[in-house]
Amino acid sequence: MQAKILILHGDGIGPEVTRVGQQVLQVIARNFGHNFTLEEALLGHQAIQLTGQPLPDETLNKAKNCDAILLGAVGHPMYDNNPKAVVRPEQGILRLRKELGLFANLRPIQVFDELLEASPIKSEILRGSDILFFRELTGGIYFGTPRERRDNGQTAVDTCIYTREEVKRIAAMAFEAAQKRKKKVTSVDKANVLETSRLWREVVNEVAQSYPDVELEHQLVDSMTMKLISQPSKYDVILTENLFGDILTDEASQIVGSMGLLASASIGSNVGLFEPIHGSAPDIAGQNIANPIASVLSVALLFQIGLGLQEEASAVVGAVKKTLAKGYRTRDIKDANTEPNKILGTREMGEVIIENI
Ligand code: NAD
Repeated sequence: MQAKILILHGDGIGPEVTRVGQQVLQVIARNFGHNFTLEEALLGHQAIQLTGQPLPDETLNKAKNCDAILLGAVGHPMYDNNPKAVVRPEQGILRLRKELGLFANLRPIQVFDELLEASPIKSEILRGSDILFFRELTGGIYFGTPRERRDNGQTAVDTCIYTREEVKRIAAMAFEAAQKRKKKVTSVDKANVLETSRLWREVVNEVAQSYPDVELEHQLVDSMTMKLISQPSKYDVILTENLFGDILTDEASQIVGSMGLLASASIGSNVGLFEPIHGSAPDIAGQNIANPIASVLSVALLFQIGLGLQEEASAVVGAVKKTLAKGYRTRDIKDANTEPNKILGTREMGEVIIENI
């Protein structure tokens, strides 16, 4: 297969983990006889420093003219610590998703048996957990206007807006995915308080009519946070709006053991964007200790969902499992049984995974 893949390294640990993802793309291309053209472009803080823009036009053009995108992460403490910063790295990623029409963010939460001990949750609770999150990505409070300061900065306003169509299209995707899994959708909202959530629930109920073989349950977001860690194996597909999905999937990373293990796919138009769910992790950036597995699994999703290459995706996931089964760990997922010489840095972990492909 011929494919043009855009690599957006971003900031902090983004370039460290994405370099491993990039190597995986190259090895798979070689082993399976594909011709991947890998291009790079700027995004986030790095892009602001060099061009003044978090998403330069050149990056957007390249993104619109490729077959799939592999992203690292964006973000830098200089903006997090300055609420008055007008140009921010995250604006780049939000605009990129919007411009590309990527309205659905899929986040698989799958527990590796080898890592049951790495999670702060008891292994008997975790065993068998396999959840697929559908987070709405281009609506809700992240994009609604007005969004402003009033009264000389004393009052702040954000706006949460959803249209029937926005809810319908992601709900349909979630039900379709559930049909191929355990046939259960849990829709998360705050319908006891929010009008947008009442619309969400109404539309999800309507969409459910077309999928009679899929069981639908509604769960309020506050109790969902509790049930997600007390009974994770009870869930199959979890469908939710933008902000709730952002928060719940970070919580779900603790089911698996670390932020460094979770990949995501953003889809909705011709080109898909694949990235770890974690951020730029400035606390560990530049130290070669970040876990590259989330980036490697993002490449597996890129193959599976972005390019329709199932065998290649399985080869990547298989290599990660084999690496973990042999006892290799990065710092974030080591436990009392990990042999000290098997605690690896980012690059070294990447090398072992690549050997196992
Ligand atoms: P974070 O995900 O960067 O880090 C949270 C915690 O998880 C940190 O302790 C970090 O060390 C750890 N962690 C994250 N990835 C890891 C990995 N691969 N291996 C080992 N440990 C890992 O979230 P944060 O600290 O809240 O945010 C840092 C910056 O990232 C902020 O500027 C934020 O805006 C940005 N951010 C960007 C994205 C994105 O690019 N999609 C997502 C979330 C946050």
